[in-house]
Amino acid sequence: MSGVLLQQFIGGVWRDGRGDLLTSENPARPTEIVASGPAGTVEDVELAVRAASEATAAWAATPPHERGAILKRASAIVADAAPEWGRDLAREEGKTLAEGVGETRRAAQILEYFGNDADREAGSLFSSPRRGERILVTRRPLGTVALITPFNFPIAIPAWKIAPALAYGNTVVWKPAGPVPLLALRLAQALDEAGLPAGVLNLVFGEGEVGAALVGHPLVDGVSFTGSTAVGRSVAAAGAARGIPVQAELGGKNAAVVLADADLELAAGQVLAGAFNSSGQKCTATSRLVVADEIAADFGRLLAERADALVVGDPVVEGVQLGPVVSGRARDSILAGMAQAEQEGASALTSRELELTSDLADGYFVRPAVYELPTDGSFLWEQELFGPVLAMLTAKTVDEAFGLANEGGFGLSAAVFTNDLGLALDSIDRLQIGILHVNSETAGADPHVPFGGAKGSGLGPKEQGGAAREFYTSSTTVYLRGGA
Ligand code: NAD
Repeated sequence: MSGVLLQQFIGGVWRDGRGDLLTSENPARPTEIVASGPAGTVEDVELAVRAASEATAAWAATPPHERGAILKRASAIVADAAPEWGRDLAREEGKTLAEGVGETRRAAQILEYFGNDADREAGSLFSSPRRGERILVTRRPLGTVALITPFNFPIAIPAWKIAPALAYGNTVVWKPAGPVPLLALRLAQALDEAGLPAGVLNLVFGEGEVGAALVGHPLVDGVSFTGSTAVGRSVAAAGAARGIPVQAELGGKNAAVVLADADLELAAGQVLAGAFNSSGQKCTATSRLVVADEIAADFGRLLAERADALVVGDPVVEGVQLGPVVSGRARDSILAGMAQAEQEGASALTSRELELTSDLADGYFVRPAVYELPTDGSFLWEQELFGPVLAMLTAKTVDEAFGLANEGGFGLSAAVFTNDLGLALDSIDRLQIGILHVNSETAGADPHVPFGGAKGSGLGPKEQGGAAREFYTSSTTVYLRGGA
């Protein structure tokens, strides 16, 4: 065993899991172990849920201001540690150092935002049709919530679930994704150090079996899940069978639409960032491109040249723009997807071969690729590969462009590049997605506005902003009259 020692956090105590050894490796150099320790088991889930459930009443009764103060102290701890933890993140997940540090700072910002939000309104007052009466709508925490998070934003996504859950008075049992336990440990340490009472946050490591036990536990009052669509739907079904609220943010196959009047330089830079930052491992990454016929050849060439020039390598080295993908399994499935697309007639506009130093020879690298597709409805047009692969189609009309963007089962985000305000406004009504960027890349989120998808990209209420308060509380409508 080597790397940082992983321990779970249950009932305010750091303790070894009772399961098999869990190790996280550096995907750039897989023999390098970043962290390791025993994973959790179904028995650990039992312990954690009981600890959370016992802490529920006292935490719900803690004034929101005090709950928020703890989140803000945790925010300061995370912000101070961002250079170091951002590096850990890059070593564990594979995104670049700048992205790792940026994500850690984002987690600090989210903790601060919801720390402050705890103090804001706790309900609303309405007039009544009856004399002498007012109608008050107040909010209560759900109780104990289970949070299940994916590998690709190992600290920001957990922060945007944990911070509102705690701010609005819930206790938490959190199961992070298997490949990124170190950042989970760090975030839990920050909240512990910030003074969170025992049992309010519990961290259990493990894979699907542990997640399923958590969702199925009778003392869990709500579930927030982010991950793939297939797993999310099974989690939502299990939650529905128990009659508890479930929020599930799922996969994406996000399109950028470049219309004929667009600023092509701007569009190329943004599409490149959307497709290849974090090696394409963002739920909001741009993986489809629809380009107006008359500019398609020029735009495809521009994009391919820039993609071929991206620096791929060790993500912690200054100047590297793309690191590896998270695991050998992820790399193999992306490469298999590219091979299938080529068999179906996709032609690569990019021509680069990977040139890596010998110390990275075993790393899970994938060359950034732009493919032009012969037709829609193909594998690469519809399936999420979750890697640095962009599929392009051309459209003869704006109608056709929006129609192509709407194809397939997903509906998370889209980008439209145009200088025509009328077309931009049209796209708001016509694109079936949860997040629209006009003249910017498909990726991005802010803590004060809702985040989430349409169609197969999301189930239940959205995350962040006012949507988070809605999800993590249930309302009581109070008809209030004087006694006389
Ligand atoms: P995944 O679905 O494999 O795993 C997500 C989490 O679910 C992990 O913690 C995993 O251990 C757990 N899990 C697996 N089986 C389970 C089960 N049966 N019951 C309960 N929990 C279970 O996803 P991933 O590979 O970690 O992440 C990539 C996916 O997440 C992509 O599809 C991506 O688009 C999606 N994603 C979506 C958003 C969003 O906000 N819409 C954000 C980030 C990632």
